Amino acid sequence: MKRPLIDQHVHTNASPDANRDATMTAYIDKAKKMGIPGVVFTDHVDMDTPVELFKTFPDYQTYSKNIKPLNTPDFFVRMGVEIGYQPHIQEKIETFIQSHPFDFVICSIHLGDKLDFYNGDFFIGKTQQEAYQRYFELVLESVENFQDYEVFGHLDYIIRYGDFEDKAFDIDDYQPLIDTILSTIIKNGKGIEVNTSGIRYNLGVMHPNLAILKRYKALGGKIITLGSDAHKVDDFYSDFEHAIALILKAGFRYITEFKARQPYFIEL
Ligand SMILES: [Zn+2]
Ligand SMILES: [Zn+2]
Repeated sequence: MKRPLIDQHVHTNASPDANRDATMTAYIDKAKKMGIPGVVFTDHVDMDTPVELFKTFPDYQTYSKNIKPLNTPDFFVRMGVEIGYQPHIQEKIETFIQSHPFDFVICSIHLGDKLDFYNGDFFIGKTQQEAYQRYFELVLESVENFQDYEVFGHLDYIIRYGDFEDKAFDIDDYQPLIDTILSTIIKNGKGIEVNTSGIRYNLGVMHPNLAILKRYKALGGKIITLGSDAHKVDDFYSDFEHAIALILKAGFRYITEFKARQPYFIEL
Protein backbone atom coordinates (compact mmCIF):
# COMPACT_ATOMS: atom_id res chain seq x y z
CA MET A 1 0.00 0.00 0.00
CA LYS A 2 1.23 3.49 -0.79
CA ARG A 3 -0.49 6.57 0.63
CA PRO A 4 0.43 9.69 2.66
CA LEU A 5 2.07 8.74 5.94
CA ILE A 6 0.55 9.70 9.25
CA ASP A 7 2.29 11.57 12.05
CA GLN A 8 2.68 9.07 14.89
CA HIS A 9 4.00 11.36 17.62
CA VAL A 10 1.62 14.22 18.39
CA HIS A 11 0.90 16.02 21.68
CA THR A 12 -2.43 17.73 22.20
CA ASN A 13 -3.13 20.21 24.98
CA ALA A 14 -3.79 17.18 27.20
CA SER A 15 0.02 17.11 27.53
CA PRO A 16 1.08 19.68 30.14
CA ASP A 17 3.95 21.04 28.03
CA ALA A 18 1.90 21.47 24.84
CA ASN A 19 0.47 24.68 23.46
CA ARG A 20 -3.05 25.39 24.81
CA ASP A 21 -4.30 25.85 21.20
CA ALA A 22 -3.17 22.32 20.31
CA THR A 23 -6.64 20.80 20.42
CA MET A 24 -7.53 17.49 18.82
CA THR A 25 -9.81 19.24 16.35
CA ALA A 26 -7.10 21.75 15.36
CA TYR A 27 -4.76 18.88 14.42
CA ILE A 28 -7.55 17.00 12.67
CA ASP A 29 -8.48 20.07 10.60
CA LYS A 30 -4.86 20.53 9.59
CA ALA A 31 -4.41 16.85 8.69
CA LYS A 32 -7.56 16.89 6.57
CA LYS A 33 -6.40 20.03 4.75
CA MET A 34 -3.09 18.29 4.02
CA GLY A 35 -4.85 15.21 2.61
CA ILE A 36 -3.55 12.93 5.37
CA PRO A 37 -5.88 9.99 6.16
CA GLY A 38 -5.72 10.10 9.98
CA VAL A 39 -3.93 11.13 13.17
CA VAL A 40 -2.52 9.39 16.23
CA PHE A 41 -2.37 11.35 19.46
CA THR A 42 0.46 10.37 21.81
CA ASP A 43 0.14 12.50 24.92
CA HIS A 44 2.55 12.28 27.83
CA VAL A 45 2.09 9.95 30.75
CA ASP A 46 5.05 10.38 33.11
CA MET A 47 4.36 8.71 36.44
CA ASP A 48 6.36 9.44 39.57
CA THR A 49 8.16 12.38 38.05
CA PRO A 50 9.97 15.02 40.12
CA VAL A 51 8.97 17.58 37.47
CA GLU A 52 5.95 19.47 38.81
CA LEU A 53 4.51 20.20 35.36
CA PHE A 54 4.25 16.52 34.45
CA LYS A 55 2.61 15.29 37.63
CA THR A 56 -0.81 15.22 35.98
CA PHE A 57 -1.93 13.32 32.92
CA PRO A 58 -5.28 12.72 31.21
CA ASP A 59 -7.99 10.37 32.37
CA TYR A 60 -7.91 7.89 29.51
CA GLN A 61 -11.45 6.62 30.03
CA THR A 62 -12.69 10.09 29.12
CA TYR A 63 -9.97 10.56 26.51
CA SER A 64 -11.00 7.36 24.77
CA LYS A 65 -14.66 8.41 24.80
CA ASN A 66 -13.73 11.80 23.31
CA ILE A 67 -11.74 10.24 20.49
CA LYS A 68 -14.35 7.76 19.24
CA PRO A 69 -16.81 10.25 17.68
CA LEU A 70 -13.96 12.04 15.88
CA ASN A 71 -13.56 9.01 13.62
CA THR A 72 -15.42 9.23 10.30
CA PRO A 73 -15.51 6.84 7.32
CA ASP A 74 -12.74 8.79 5.57
CA PHE A 75 -10.63 9.90 8.56
CA PHE A 76 -9.31 7.93 11.54
CA VAL A 77 -8.24 9.19 14.95
CA ARG A 78 -6.21 6.81 17.09
CA MET A 79 -5.31 6.82 20.76
CA GLY A 80 -1.62 6.46 21.43
CA VAL A 81 0.46 7.37 24.44
CA GLU A 82 4.06 8.37 25.12
CA ILE A 83 4.87 6.58 28.34
CA GLY A 84 7.82 7.83 30.38
CA TYR A 85 9.62 4.66 31.45
CA GLN A 86 11.34 4.36 34.82
CA PRO A 87 12.39 0.94 36.13
CA HIS A 88 10.98 1.33 39.65
CA ILE A 89 7.43 1.92 38.32
CA GLN A 90 7.39 -0.72 35.59
CA GLU A 91 4.48 -2.69 37.06
CA LYS A 92 2.43 0.46 37.50
CA ILE A 93 3.10 1.38 33.86
CA GLU A 94 2.14 -2.11 32.63
CA THR A 95 -1.11 -2.03 34.58
CA PHE A 96 -1.90 1.42 33.21
CA ILE A 97 -1.24 0.43 29.57
CA GLN A 98 -3.19 -2.79 29.84
CA SER A 99 -6.18 -0.98 31.34
CA HIS A 100 -6.79 1.21 28.29
CA PRO A 101 -7.50 0.49 24.62
CA PHE A 102 -4.41 2.13 23.16
CA ASP A 103 -3.61 1.84 19.46
CA PHE A 104 0.05 2.67 19.88
CA VAL A 105 2.54 2.99 22.75
CA ILE A 106 5.82 4.90 22.54
CA CYS A 107 8.29 4.08 25.31
CA SER A 108 10.46 7.09 26.15
CA ILE A 109 13.00 7.89 28.81
CA HIS A 110 12.63 11.46 30.07
CA LEU A 111 14.44 10.94 33.40
CA GLY A 112 17.62 9.07 34.25
CA ASP A 113 18.15 7.64 37.74
CA LYS A 114 15.16 9.83 38.77
CA LEU A 115 17.03 12.94 37.61
CA ASP A 116 15.67 15.34 35.00
CA PHE A 117 17.51 15.91 31.73
CA TYR A 118 15.71 19.16 30.94
CA ASN A 119 16.72 21.05 34.11
CA GLY A 120 20.24 19.63 33.92
CA ASP A 121 20.18 17.57 37.16
CA PHE A 122 21.15 14.38 35.33
CA PHE A 123 24.33 16.00 34.00
CA ILE A 124 25.68 17.26 37.33
CA GLY A 125 29.04 15.65 38.11
CA LYS A 126 29.20 13.82 34.77
CA THR A 127 31.34 14.46 31.72
CA GLN A 128 29.49 14.45 28.39
CA GLN A 129 30.75 10.92 27.72
CA GLU A 130 29.63 9.71 31.16
CA ALA A 131 26.18 11.29 30.80
CA TYR A 132 25.59 9.80 27.33
CA GLN A 133 26.98 6.42 28.43
CA ARG A 134 24.68 6.31 31.47
CA TYR A 135 21.70 7.35 29.34
CA PHE A 136 22.30 4.54 26.85
CA GLU A 137 22.76 2.05 29.71
CA LEU A 138 19.32 3.10 30.99
CA VAL A 139 17.84 2.65 27.51
CA LEU A 140 19.31 -0.86 27.40
CA GLU A 141 17.91 -1.72 30.84
CA SER A 142 14.47 -0.54 29.77
CA VAL A 143 14.35 -2.49 26.50
CA GLU A 144 15.66 -5.60 28.25
CA ASN A 145 13.01 -5.45 30.98
CA PHE A 146 9.96 -3.71 29.54
CA GLN A 147 7.94 -5.07 26.61
CA ASP A 148 4.62 -3.24 26.70
CA TYR A 149 5.31 -0.80 23.89
CA GLU A 150 5.58 -0.64 20.08
CA VAL A 151 8.49 1.73 19.44
CA PHE A 152 11.22 3.29 21.53
CA GLY A 153 10.90 7.08 21.41
CA HIS A 154 13.67 9.53 20.40
CA LEU A 155 16.40 6.94 21.05
CA ASP A 156 19.25 9.48 21.39
CA TYR A 157 17.17 12.10 23.19
CA ILE A 158 20.04 12.82 25.59
CA ILE A 159 21.63 15.07 22.95
CA ARG A 160 18.78 17.56 23.32
CA TYR A 161 20.01 18.56 26.77
CA GLY A 162 23.32 19.07 28.55
CA ASP A 163 25.30 22.27 28.44
CA PHE A 164 27.86 21.05 25.90
CA GLU A 165 29.32 23.04 23.03
CA ASP A 166 28.96 20.13 20.59
CA LYS A 167 26.06 17.89 21.56
CA ALA A 168 26.62 15.42 18.73
CA PHE A 169 28.28 12.07 19.35
CA ASP A 170 30.05 9.34 17.46
CA ILE A 171 28.21 6.03 17.83
CA ASP A 172 31.54 4.19 17.91
CA ASP A 173 32.16 5.75 21.34
CA TYR A 174 29.08 3.93 22.68
CA GLN A 175 29.56 0.54 21.09
CA PRO A 176 28.76 -2.27 21.68
CA LEU A 177 26.07 -0.66 23.87
CA ILE A 178 24.10 0.86 20.97
CA ASP A 179 24.19 -2.39 18.97
CA THR A 180 22.99 -4.31 22.03
CA ILE A 181 20.08 -1.86 22.48
CA LEU A 182 19.07 -2.20 18.82
CA SER A 183 19.46 -6.00 18.78
CA THR A 184 17.33 -6.29 21.91
CA ILE A 185 14.59 -4.12 20.40
CA ILE A 186 14.63 -6.23 17.22
CA LYS A 187 14.73 -9.57 19.08
CA ASN A 188 11.68 -8.54 21.11
CA GLY A 189 9.68 -7.64 17.99
CA LYS A 190 9.68 -3.91 18.81
CA GLY A 191 10.76 -0.92 16.77
CA ILE A 192 12.10 2.60 16.90
CA GLU A 193 10.71 5.91 15.75
CA VAL A 194 12.28 8.62 13.66
CA ASN A 195 11.43 11.76 15.62
CA THR A 196 11.90 14.93 13.59
CA SER A 197 12.04 17.30 16.59
CA GLY A 198 15.85 17.40 16.62
CA ILE A 199 15.67 19.66 13.59
CA ARG A 200 13.40 22.12 15.40
CA TYR A 201 15.72 22.06 18.41
CA ASN A 202 18.57 23.09 16.09
CA LEU A 203 20.47 19.87 16.75
CA GLY A 204 20.92 19.41 13.00
CA VAL A 205 19.80 15.77 13.24
CA MET A 206 16.66 13.74 13.82
CA HIS A 207 16.33 11.29 16.72
CA PRO A 208 17.99 8.92 16.26
CA ASN A 209 20.76 10.11 13.98
CA LEU A 210 21.47 8.51 10.59
CA ALA A 211 24.35 6.39 11.93
CA ILE A 212 22.00 4.68 14.41
CA LEU A 213 19.33 4.22 11.74
CA LYS A 214 21.87 2.50 9.52
CA ARG A 215 22.98 0.21 12.36
CA TYR A 216 19.34 -0.63 13.09
CA LYS A 217 18.86 -1.61 9.45
CA ALA A 218 22.12 -3.60 9.34
CA LEU A 219 21.11 -5.55 12.45
CA GLY A 220 17.78 -6.53 10.87
CA GLY A 221 15.48 -3.76 12.15
CA LYS A 222 12.16 -3.57 10.31
CA ILE A 223 9.71 -1.61 12.46
CA ILE A 224 10.14 2.12 12.09
CA THR A 225 7.55 4.83 12.71
CA LEU A 226 7.70 8.52 11.92
CA GLY A 227 6.59 11.37 14.15
CA SER A 228 7.04 15.10 14.60
CA ASP A 229 6.68 15.20 18.41
CA ALA A 230 4.59 18.33 17.80
CA HIS A 231 3.50 20.22 20.90
CA LYS A 232 1.72 22.81 18.77
CA VAL A 233 -0.26 22.56 15.55
CA ASP A 234 2.37 24.44 13.51
CA ASP A 235 4.86 21.62 14.16
CA PHE A 236 2.52 18.83 13.07
CA TYR A 237 4.09 16.76 10.26
CA SER A 238 7.22 18.94 10.30
CA ASP A 239 10.29 17.89 8.29
CA PHE A 240 8.66 14.69 7.02
CA GLU A 241 10.22 14.97 3.55
CA HIS A 242 13.67 15.30 5.10
CA ALA A 243 12.95 12.34 7.42
CA ILE A 244 11.71 10.12 4.59
CA ALA A 245 14.88 10.89 2.62
CA LEU A 246 16.99 9.78 5.62
CA ILE A 247 14.92 6.65 6.19
CA LEU A 248 15.34 5.69 2.52
CA LYS A 249 19.06 6.47 2.76
CA ALA A 250 19.32 4.06 5.70
CA GLY A 251 17.83 1.38 3.45
CA PHE A 252 14.21 1.15 4.61
CA ARG A 253 11.42 0.86 2.05
CA TYR A 254 8.46 0.78 4.45
CA ILE A 255 7.11 2.73 7.39
CA THR A 256 5.14 0.96 10.11
CA GLU A 257 1.84 2.21 11.45
CA PHE A 258 -0.15 0.74 14.32
CA LYS A 259 -3.82 0.18 14.91
CA ALA A 260 -5.01 -1.58 18.08
CA ARG A 261 -1.30 -2.17 18.71
CA GLN A 262 -0.97 -4.28 15.55
CA PRO A 263 1.57 -3.23 12.89
CA TYR A 264 0.99 -2.79 9.18
CA PHE A 265 3.38 -1.42 6.60
CA ILE A 266 3.13 1.54 4.23
CA GLU A 267 5.42 1.65 1.22
CA LEU A 268 7.64 4.72 0.97
ZN1 LIG B 1 9.47 12.46 24.68
ZN1 LIG C 1 6.73 13.47 22.75
